[in-house]
Amino acid sequence: MTAPAPPGSAVAPPWALLAELTHACPLHCPYCSNPLELARRSAELSTEEWTDVLRQAGALGVVHTHLSGGEPLLRPDLEQIVAAAETAGIYTQLVTSGTGLDEARLAALTAAGLRSVQLSVQHADPRAGDRIAGRPSSFAAKERAAALVRRAGLPLGLNVVLHRDNLDAVDALIDLGVAWGADRVELANTQFYGWGLLNRSALLPTRDQLSRARETVERRREQLGDRIDLVWVVPDYFDGVAKPCMGGWGAVSLTVTPDGTVLPCPAAASLPDLDPPSVRDHPLAWIWEHSPAFGRYRGTDWMTGPCRGCPRREEDFGGCRCQAFALTGDATRTDPACALSPDHHLVRDPADAGRAEPPPYVYRRPGAAPVPAPAPALTPAPTPAAGGRDPL
Ligand code: SF4
Ligand code: SF4
Repeated sequence: MTAPAPPGSAVAPPWALLAELTHACPLHCPYCSNPLELARRSAELSTEEWTDVLRQAGALGVVHTHLSGGEPLLRPDLEQIVAAAETAGIYTQLVTSGTGLDEARLAALTAAGLRSVQLSVQHADPRAGDRIAGRPSSFAAKERAAALVRRAGLPLGLNVVLHRDNLDAVDALIDLGVAWGADRVELANTQFYGWGLLNRSALLPTRDQLSRARETVERRREQLGDRIDLVWVVPDYFDGVAKPCMGGWGAVSLTVTPDGTVLPCPAAASLPDLDPPSVRDHPLAWIWEHSPAFGRYRGTDWMTGPCRGCPRREEDFGGCRCQAFALTGDATRTDPACALSPDHHLVRDPADAGRAEPPPYVYRRPGAAPVPAPAPALTPAPTPAAGGRDPL
């Protein structure tokens, strides 16, 4: 998947760019992974700056971009940004809530070079979907958007973030994907960052819910065969397995946030002392190849604890640095999602808590939550001795 490093560079080029065009969004999903401190619209990169970012990204080797947010349709210059990606030779996928998409806008985006659309869906039931999104009639907007995308002949994917409130509807969500003509349905168990971490107690499902949903996906895969691609993104809190976050830090992908900050992972702005660079100050190639932020957790030399001698370290890269920091206060520790982590109790205990009455959502709205995020009550285990035993 990763191209070889160009002559003169020890670092292989990235192939994917997550372009967070804005943090503004008409929806208010409580699982949103955007940071609690949302970027102001006045701080967003201009059309010319995004055009230059995409030109540099294409020159660097990027071949695929997700145009995301927030809601990217809120950018009135989205067509120009799509055209800039097309000129740079980059495949564009629009990641949208569907709110505000109409026939004329989609035609303009398609003419500019848009190649595919990923539509977020909160539930298969319209009322439940609107409640989770925190906005009336949002489900109806998604249904209209899906029909427009299919009529335009673009590939359509549905993305569903799964949690306590919709895991029991996985069967109906797959039916919805079939009915709306989706090529792909991604069933992504919640990753607890940003607003998702703030709402963790309300969102965490039970183990029974997860195992029923998993069985449903298996059954529907057999039934539907090649008609639709069903993707199940593992619930790392429950499986005891760390996810290979971003395919490795600074390995295949970079994120540019609305104000031009460049991150190895969308949640990495939460890491203290990272000092992430900005496209307003540095060329993208320098940021990727030479910036201290991208070098910080690249490869395996930084690893501590059980990761250091673990045979899986080249496969999952020690899990997610942002999750390690969010839960332990130390980004160099093994991701607590891994059952081998001395901090695994920090995900196992909340996952096993089985709340009868979860707290109400804190909906994603500017000013709706204290900033910085209130950290969960955490007690990391003592750091294991360097060169600790090979755990596998
Ligand atoms: S998760 Fe919801 S609130 Fe967050 S950007 Fe997506 S649609 Fe908007
Ligand atoms: S201990 Fe091994 S399996 Fe666990 S996160 Fe580290 S490298 Fe992965």
